[in-house]
Amino acid sequence: MVTAGSSRESWHGTGHGYSYHGCRCQPCTDAHRRRCNDWMNRVALKVPEADLTHGVRSTYNNYGCRCEDCRRAQSDHNRQWRERRKAAGGAS
Ligand SMILES: [Zn+2]
Ligand SMILES: [Zn+2]
Repeated sequence: MVTAGSSRESWHGTGHGYSYHGCRCQPCTDAHRRRCNDWMNRVALKVPEADLTHGVRSTYNNYGCRCEDCRRAQSDHNRQWRERRKAAGGAS
């Protein structure tokens, strides 16, 4: 992989820079915010609130629902994941 000495990589301002490269420069942040808004509008249009299944992680993650049931599903998963990692030795 070749990295040019330039700091102006082509992904700046694409949203990809923000989420993938973790860049927080202004163009990347703007692009990310724009994309989030687009995405949320699209989700909101496509899936009426009433059609969402609550208490599952996909609703929490994909639709950004933060109701009690969905939050619990997500935190249960996080806890189980941590416990599984610990049981597996924790290293690496
Ligand atoms: Zn950037
Ligand atoms: Zn929910």
